[in-house]
Amino acid sequence: MSPGVQGPNDAGDVSIDEGGFQLPCGGHVTPPMGSDANTGNVPSGPPKYHFHKSPECLPAFTNASVGLTKGSQPNVHAQLMGWAIDGFGVYAYQDEYGAAPIVDECGGHFGPVDTGEVVYHYHSRPIVPYHLACQGPALGKCDDTQSGTNYCGSGCGAEVCVQPGTTEEALRTYLSKFNSTWLDSYTVNDYTKSTYYSSASGHSVSVVTILAAALVSYIFA
Ligand SMILES: [Zn+2]
Repeated sequence: MSPGVQGPNDAGDVSIDEGGFQLPCGGHVTPPMGSDANTGNVPSGPPKYHFHKSPECLPAFTNASVGLTKGSQPNVHAQLMGWAIDGFGVYAYQDEYGAAPIVDECGGHFGPVDTGEVVYHYHSRPIVPYHLACQGPALGKCDDTQSGTNYCGSGCGAEVCVQPGTTEEALRTYLSKFNSTWLDSYTVNDYTKSTYYSSASGHSVSVVTILAAALVSYIFA
């Protein structure tokens, strides 16, 4: 069975760092747990191995530190390490060209991944909350979805965050699978330049099926 990924709020608002938990490779096994009636975040069932921190022992992370002579590709997007329960992929640290990912409050963004395909995806981070703070796209609403301690990031300064260098054509092709007018309903960072601007306003259109409830609970596929 594949291990899951748990958010920091799943530890009952206890920081996993302050809690002193031993997390080799960023994960550990829980004792049997009942579901939390208040948040619904804690899975019930038998002991389960799951990750909290970024599992830097996995190939998606170790491959990034391979030397150039051993075939490393420092300019490519990080590899997939798993999927959030909303279906979007979670990738290791690095974005294309070795850049830092420009992410929204949830920790995700639109942009090309290692296959070249432009999709919405999350990035692991070496700091709390390590993976995603909420289920994105954040649309500036991450704060509203937190049931415990707020782990939302500062975001890119717009409702929709797109990694600089992403082509608008590829982005619109991806979004048209869901809703071809959705992008125009939100502010977007200027992903063609290094500064950000607001291109639109309004919040009335939802992204329908790609958005899910804001449980900070994730699984591997
Ligand atoms: Zn990315």
